[in-house]
Amino acid sequence: MHYISTRGNYSPISSAQAIKLGMVPYGGLFCPEFIPQIDIHKLQGMNYQNLAQYILKLYLTDYTDEEIQQAVKQAYNQKNFHSEDITPLHFLTLNTGILELWHGPTAAFKDLALQIMPLFLVLATQKLQLGREIVILVATSGDTGKAALEGFRNVKGTQIIVFYPRKGVSYIQELQMITTEGQNTFSVAVEGNFDDCQNTVKSIFGDLEFQQLLNSKGYELSSANSINWGRLVPQIIYYFWAYLKMVEHKAIVIGDSINFTVPTGNFGNILAGYYAYRMGLPIKTFICASNINNVLTDFINQGIYNKKRQFYQTSSPSMDILISSNLERFLFELTGQNANKVNRWYTELSKEGIFKIDYTTREQLSQFFYGGYATEEETFAEIKEIYNRYNYLIDPHTAVGMNVYRKYAEETGDTTPTVINSTASPYKFNRAVYSALTGNKTTDDEFVLLEKLNQLTSVPIHRGLNELKSKEIRHHREIKIDQARNTILEILKIR
Ligand SMILES: *Cc1c(COP(=O)(O)O)cnc(C)c1O
Repeated sequence: MHYISTRGNYSPISSAQAIKLGMVPYGGLFCPEFIPQIDIHKLQGMNYQNLAQYILKLYLTDYTDEEIQQAVKQAYNQKNFHSEDITPLHFLTLNTGILELWHGPTAAFKDLALQIMPLFLVLATQKLQLGREIVILVATSGDTGKAALEGFRNVKGTQIIVFYPRKGVSYIQELQMITTEGQNTFSVAVEGNFDDCQNTVKSIFGDLEFQQLLNSKGYELSSANSINWGRLVPQIIYYFWAYLKMVEHKAIVIGDSINFTVPTGNFGNILAGYYAYRMGLPIKTFICASNINNVLTDFINQGIYNKKRQFYQTSSPSMDILISSNLERFLFELTGQNANKVNRWYTELSKEGIFKIDYTTREQLSQFFYGGYATEEETFAEIKEIYNRYNYLIDPHTAVGMNVYRKYAEETGDTTPTVINSTASPYKFNRAVYSALTGNKTTDDEFVLLEKLNQLTSVPIHRGLNELKSKEIRHHREIKIDQARNTILEILKIR
């Protein structure tokens, strides 16, 4: 299996090379040159690990069976994921399942990818005989930073350095990062906002002189962001898993179609579902749920992607995004891998901030994609409604998904069994959840809120968050953003 560029500007490469490179150097994303087909009957009875092995093998053909098996074993176990099912499916009703993607170490769905991707990256550097240690640079506004720190923690041959805006993350998010263990993890608080962090990291990736200096000292820069194929491919697994659980639960018989509802930001999660569909998983409709940063809702309904709009901060911050990077891969696959079209659209996006897809592509899109969004009020009301009606606690991202699913079901009358992807533990966003349930906007600190929410609902506190308070603070670096390069050199003991 080779990987090709969505913009037709790179020659086909192996999966190890695609994972090592992250994105196409001159713009564009790597996609598999064809989509492997699966007979779902063959998957029945598999546990999560066997299923993972089966699916990853189809895409990572330059990795040996043993390498994949070892990575799966190391990533998807009950030490990392607090559930035998890894991603358990919780049934709200016979026909509606909530896929809990947050039992990993950092309480959000990014763990599913970031627990295994670092292992593939290290194997890639060995296969390519790079002979240098990998230095991962991350700019984060919260969730990704901690998930990456945990994923790379103590992974041999890697160092990870995370820059986060001192005042731009929640207290729990900061504590999650600064208590990270491991000899190769570094989190750095920056005086400034997220954009400062991101722009600096981007400029370092473009700074060839700085990279040559690192190379000469035996280091190679790399990123772990969500456009890396190594982060996308592990997310395909849980779509098949959820389907098998629906069969096991007798919500469907094998071969029946189901819907998936996905709270969406960068379009990575839902794109993995689309690959599962193209591999042969019977899916009727993808319900793409946004918050009031509803650029995708408009795109699905009008065929126009327009990033020139107001940006809102919401209670579902991981979906506060105006450019959904992975949409590019989706359009490439939707158009039958038409790199010319994708190239044209993305040139327009970067020049004008807007592009419009053609009629045929739009028809194909609307056949099986539904786009909707939830306001802040609707999101809070949804948390309360689901709790009161089902005694089940959801976080604001999941609530956006539930609310849009409800709108879809009312509008269309569709009663097809549906899985809603739940992307974070309610305890991770406890302030919003507590206020949704009680109407009480407290100023209590987030640890007090963990306890209060637990007393109110009796839902157990997520292990990764409960342990935080007693953990030692191990990272003390605080810098001005213009010191980022020096900080990297100091961490790597180059200066
Ligand atoms: C990252 C994230 C999302 C958005 O996922 P995409 O793959 O970017 O669409 C949704 N919810 C939570 C909690 C997240 O951390």
